[in-house]
Amino acid sequence: MAEVRLEHVSKHFDEVVAVSDFSLSIADKEFVVLVGPSGCGKTTALRMIAGLEDVTSGSLYIGDRPVTNVPAKDRNIAMVFQNYALYPHMTVYDNMAFSLEMHKTPKSEIKKRVQEAAEILGIQELLDRKPKQLSGGQRQRVAVGRAIVRKPEVFLFDEPLSNLDAKLRAQTRVELKKLHERIATTAVYVTHDQVEAMTMGDRIVVMKDGIIQQVGNPLELYRAPANKFVGGFLGSPTMNFFEAELSGAPDSLRLKTAGFTLNLPRSKASSIEHYPEKRVIVGIRPEDLRPAADTTANNTISLLIDVVEPIGSETYVFGAADDVALVAGVGRDSLVKAHQNVVLTPIMDNIHLFDIRDEKTLL
Ligand code: ATP
Repeated sequence: MAEVRLEHVSKHFDEVVAVSDFSLSIADKEFVVLVGPSGCGKTTALRMIAGLEDVTSGSLYIGDRPVTNVPAKDRNIAMVFQNYALYPHMTVYDNMAFSLEMHKTPKSEIKKRVQEAAEILGIQELLDRKPKQLSGGQRQRVAVGRAIVRKPEVFLFDEPLSNLDAKLRAQTRVELKKLHERIATTAVYVTHDQVEAMTMGDRIVVMKDGIIQQVGNPLELYRAPANKFVGGFLGSPTMNFFEAELSGAPDSLRLKTAGFTLNLPRSKASSIEHYPEKRVIVGIRPEDLRPAADTTANNTISLLIDVVEPIGSETYVFGAADDVALVAGVGRDSLVKAHQNVVLTPIMDNIHLFDIRDEKTLL
């Protein structure tokens, strides 16, 4: 059981800054997900925790132990890689037993731990098989089993589900979460997939260009993103963004675009009381943009539909309101068609406002 702490950790590869001033405390037994687009530095951050990459500056702790200069093998961590890295010539049992044998664990203890892990993962019948005789999902479980048997202080996962098909991914996501509850060990998990991050993390860390953008529990970040990047990264279809002009008196502020005008509720207006700019970036999630019950009321947007996407549980329409491209959830039973107009209204209390200068959330 261990807390993991990174203090002002940076990693430079010559002139490339892969991770910059990364500070984070991960609580004992917590499941933290590092998420961000390709190249944002999440794998490098994980590899530094693992000891597979030196830090350029900063300090790392596992429990109370400084580990910045401790080699990987002495950190008491176990890592599950994207490609699973199983030994092809060994059976599942031997793959799982290998690291314990290296540590000269007694044979009876190895047997007990492998069987325990196999039982947790439901792979008891596969112990005599070789990796090539397994499906992708089974290989993934063996890779996890190999990490479990070591009873590490910290689990590190590097995109462990990317080789699975969509259905198996969703299933394995749930399994890994249950597993984490059962073995109650600190876990750091890297993914570029925002759904994986949202569904698995006790907390998620959103990264961009080597820099932490925001840390928090998934719904907190979804509902209150710190900036436009986080707002756009979490959620699918992605949040709508458009620029609007602020007009009107402070107690009746409006957001104007060429095609529509929205009246800001007081709660939102107060957030921009001291904002000196005339223009602002507006963010509206597709699920917060719904068909208007009264098409002549305030705060309506007439959208000319380009594409209709029924996904079963919801139907999304993509289109434009004058020069503003928007996507909206119109309800799964909607019969709207491409090239029609639909009148929408945003849930105004849920809209987001970002500073036009630095794209930070206006509070
Ligand atoms: P992905 O999801 O594509 O794996 P990532 O977010 O995990 O991306 P990293 O692999 O951590 O990103 O890479 C961060 C940055 O550091 C990138 O610009 C990458 O090109 C660079 N980088 C990573 N490893 C090295 C290396 N060994 N030498 C030079 N540059 C590197």
